[in-house]
Amino acid sequence: MERLGLRSDTDLALHLPLRYEDETRLTPLSQLRDGLEAQVEAVVADCRVEARPRRQLLVRLRDQGEELLLRFLHFYPSQQKALAPGTRVRARGEVRVGFFGREMVHPVVKPVAEGSPLPQTLTPVYPASAQLPQAYLRKAIASALQRAALHEILPPALLPPRLPSLREALQVLHHPPPQASLAALSDHSHPAWQRLKFEELLAQQLAQAQARQEREARQAPALRAAAGAGLQQRLRAALPFALTAAQQRAGAEIAADLGREQPMHRLLQGDVGSGKTVVAALAAAQAIDAGWQCALMAPTEILAEQHFRKLVHWLEPLGVGVAWLTGSRKGKARAQMLARVASGEAALVVGTHAVIQDDVHFARLGLAIVDEQHRFGVQQRLALRRKLVSQGDGGGLEPHLLMMTATPIPRTLAMTYFADLELSTIDELPPGRTPVLTKVFADTRRAEVVARIRDELAQGRQAYWVCPVIDDSAKGVAAQAQDGDAGVKGRGSGRSPGESLDLRHATQTFEELSAALPGRTVGLLHGRMKPADKASVMAEFVAGRLQLLVATTVIEVGVDVPNASLMVVEHAERFGLSQLHQLRGRVGRGSAASACVLLYASPLGETGKARLKAMLDTHDGFEIARRDLEIRGPGEFMGARQSGDALLRFADLAEDSALLQQARRTAPLLLQQHPDAARRHVQRWLGAGAEFMKA
Ligand code: ADP
Ligand code: MG
Repeated sequence: MERLGLRSDTDLALHLPLRYEDETRLTPLSQLRDGLEAQVEAVVADCRVEARPRRQLLVRLRDQGEELLLRFLHFYPSQQKALAPGTRVRARGEVRVGFFGREMVHPVVKPVAEGSPLPQTLTPVYPASAQLPQAYLRKAIASALQRAALHEILPPALLPPRLPSLREALQVLHHPPPQASLAALSDHSHPAWQRLKFEELLAQQLAQAQARQEREARQAPALRAAAGAGLQQRLRAALPFALTAAQQRAGAEIAADLGREQPMHRLLQGDVGSGKTVVAALAAAQAIDAGWQCALMAPTEILAEQHFRKLVHWLEPLGVGVAWLTGSRKGKARAQMLARVASGEAALVVGTHAVIQDDVHFARLGLAIVDEQHRFGVQQRLALRRKLVSQGDGGGLEPHLLMMTATPIPRTLAMTYFADLELSTIDELPPGRTPVLTKVFADTRRAEVVARIRDELAQGRQAYWVCPVIDDSAKGVAAQAQDGDAGVKGRGSGRSPGESLDLRHATQTFEELSAALPGRTVGLLHGRMKPADKASVMAEFVAGRLQLLVATTVIEVGVDVPNASLMVVEHAERFGLSQLHQLRGRVGRGSAASACVLLYASPLGETGKARLKAMLDTHDGFEIARRDLEIRGPGEFMGARQSGDALLRFADLAEDSALLQQARRTAPLLLQQHPDAARRHVQRWLGAGAEFMKA
């Protein structure tokens, strides 16, 4: 029971059947038809073992002049004994009518006394294990169900109409009456299921609403854009391009939030290449113009440096001091940077998670921006929270927070988990981009791909070759932790054994490709290199001095080299779908036609196949995210550390959007009218004991 997570009465009450068996009815032998699932009661007339054509146990039942043959191809001597002639039995199974008359093969049989009553409800079949027999579990659950604390907390007026009470719902789910619709029970549309799912969704909505209320109660500096030609206007005027309509809309939403006295909590989502950085820069300009500092954090050093260069290029000419903080910057250089941050001389601080380390003190932090937010681990997100609460001006003002991601969150997911998060979406790409052509090849066609690279380089373009993630647990999603150079997931927990294999493979590929492409410059980039070396390889590639870059997934996030027109991903089936989409987004950034070649090793598993198909089918980041969610499930998708961390146990985001909407409407009413019930409901489902939700 421990192993199945069944510790308390509540655990047992929430351990729902996989399916049901109908033992509430008896069918007379005369009414048995071919193919019918039926239960019969009759007396054994004959029981013997036959040796031909193969060894089997044949039991002949008789009732009111009719007969039924039970046939067992595997049996124990004890069964033969238990089914001695004259024994009254109930047998349940599928009827076959053949040459020898009616029969059941391997029915469930048990002896009964004459006139013993039939069960009144369907018989539950639970997820069980070899050590935990069904019959034992049934008894344990039936009695736990009587004891469990399932009293109603929610006022009936706020519940969707015609749903049973929680206790009734669970009673029905464990012991449905014979007339219950098995279809509705199995597709979870039955009112009893609806009630359970509503409970769960409501708890989540309440928790989100509480978080929002708490945030609304906190104070942030109102970053009002200065009148006239402020910094933001000057930055816009200096840009070499016009903002897209989507960028303008997102920018305006952020600007309005920054002007309020409550801390902003906004996620800016936009597909790879949609131009989020400039929107972030404009937000930073607004904060700086209002006399506050801004911190921008990226998950890897390479990405942070790229942001740093871009922002220096954009903002320093306008008189903004920009500081640079990463883990690799130590000693005197670091001390100097820290001093500039503490004095407020650096208005903008760019870096990795080093930006939120304890020894970093801001003079007046007004805005924090987190790029590729989903790449930060849970610990770092918590650290950021603490930092934000402790920074600001020391006078109780909390900085605004802007998060950015290229992995868009499907709407239902956003509503469930991020109700306490405003969303801005950039849903168009800057003009002049040609879509990337995607090809999927078996890796036996490597030579063709190398020839293609040769052509591409001959035309003065550049290419990437991304090496596989070698993961011992064969779980492609772990890919994200592989190159954690700047403390993305997995930092400090030791390197995974796969990583040195990754490195060996990358080095080998680098040597092969260098040999296959004489006269071309090939570079190698991987997570084990010193940051300075990484930066210089990257700089060479950006400057066009390296033509081909062989890399592990370090290049995944955000790197921007418009002249690169070919992306090859080896063992693409091992990468997560969102990650593949990100990688593909590295090309097609300039005006040249670009291609992405996904190499796979046969045979392809189901997941691998689904991923590659999705990559061929669509370029739309939202669609990719939706499929990724489908393939991985919300737990993985949200980066929960263990895949067992199911975020929703009963409700299904894809199917229950109507219930989710109702829960969303109900949450504020409950909080307003019955705050105490709201608190108890959250406690029951998500509280410290998390009685109803388990990891
Ligand atoms: P992402 O959203 O993936 O972070 P970036 O901010 O790196 O995208 O932008 C991708 C590229 O597009 C950059 O080179 C950027 O300068 C350019 N860009 C951004 N906005 C526009 C625009 N409105 N018109 C043209 N190019 C733009
Ligand atoms: Mg970016």
